[in-house]
Amino acid sequence: KDSAEILCVGTEILLGNIVNTNSAVISRGLAQLGINMYHHTVVGDNPQRLKEALEIAFSRNNIVITTGGLGPTYDDLTKETIAEYFGVPLELHSPSLVLIKDFFKRIGREMTENNIKQALLPKGCIVLENHNGTAPGAIIEGEGRTAVMLPGPPREMEPMFREQVMPYLEKRSQQVLRSHCVYFFGIGESALEQQLRERMISMENPTLAPYAKDGEVMLRVTASAKDEMQAEALLKPAVDQLVKEFPTLIYGVDVDNLQTAAVGELSKKGLKVATAESCTGGYISKRITEVAGSSQVFDCGVTSYANEIKEKVLGVSHETLQTYGAVSPQTAREMAQGVRELAGADIGVSTTGIAGPGGGTPEKPVGLVYVGVSSPWHSEVITLHLARGNYDNERELIRYLAASHALHLVIK
Ligand code: ATP
Ligand code: MG
Repeated sequence: KDSAEILCVGTEILLGNIVNTNSAVISRGLAQLGINMYHHTVVGDNPQRLKEALEIAFSRNNIVITTGGLGPTYDDLTKETIAEYFGVPLELHSPSLVLIKDFFKRIGREMTENNIKQALLPKGCIVLENHNGTAPGAIIEGEGRTAVMLPGPPREMEPMFREQVMPYLEKRSQQVLRSHCVYFFGIGESALEQQLRERMISMENPTLAPYAKDGEVMLRVTASAKDEMQAEALLKPAVDQLVKEFPTLIYGVDVDNLQTAAVGELSKKGLKVATAESCTGGYISKRITEVAGSSQVFDCGVTSYANEIKEKVLGVSHETLQTYGAVSPQTAREMAQGVRELAGADIGVSTTGIAGPGGGTPEKPVGLVYVGVSSPWHSEVITLHLARGNYDNERELIRYLAASHALHLVIK
């Protein structure tokens, strides 16, 4: 069975000058293809150490994917080192040279002599065209081993990997792997796992794998089959079954995020929402308006941080603020109703709470947030306790989670 190792070349990664995003992107792609991945390696721009790393990588995996070191300068040595390992010479690949010359013409710059080096490729390799830069990539095969060489800059590497390498690897394995992602909100990973445990262990095709992030759980349902249609036939019943079982917890299948799901749901129903935000400071409206097409469902958001604005703009009563305070279910309710009326929207949603780090009291601790929703057919205020312990950016997480709950409440 195939297994791959990623070998990123670049002293700047070792020094911490850049973050190794390439290996994350490639790993995600390989996981989608079902190719095992046991090692990530980073090595500097040094031919001896690169050679050693390559030998180690091929001693434990049959596929090695490198990024970086394909450039025109003297320290770019990946192709040379790999060609030597496979015992083949580098030769000039004329179509690549034409593309490189074209590239320089397009950007209106003079091509320098050392750029010709980028058109030197291992003899007999599969050439990967670079549509976003000059250095072509290459795949070389021999004695059951495969090396894939990709350029370092992410904007060149990513499309080349997605459009050329992934199809190559998929075709090679003679089977396709397809997934659907089912998104849950309002249940933790361990609680969900508890409920799906038996199934996760016993199901073989498709398989289920949960991933938790920022208060949400994504369940990846993956099938392996000989073609797309057969994979879909395996996936559909499994996904349908989940949606039937968890109708309120699942907010979408193959959606990007909560805001995309919310905008989609509201457009489908032809409804408009307005936001009144205190502790989230515009986070809900930011997330809604990130989604293309959100003007169909969103007219107005009020960031009413000060009590005076809650009163004057949203019509929260002076008495409510005096008696219960700004952080109270009563205020949340009046904010949601107030903004709905102000905007003439179908649904109003509000947040008021204590994002911290200061400002908490024993009665109203940091992390206490009220989220209100108001519509002609349903009004509700939920109480949240979002503090998760003392770490760096708790304020940001509290605000993010409060906005997530608000978005979820809108489509619940
Ligand atoms: P170039 O033609 O630009 O020299 P190259 O293929 O030789 O490309 P490198 O010189 O190794 O690649 O890296 C060029 C740039 O690409 C780096 O300065 C960095 O910004 C980015 N880069 C390289 N490797 C990675 C990585 N693993 N993750 C993210 N970015 C990277
Ligand atoms: Mg370089």
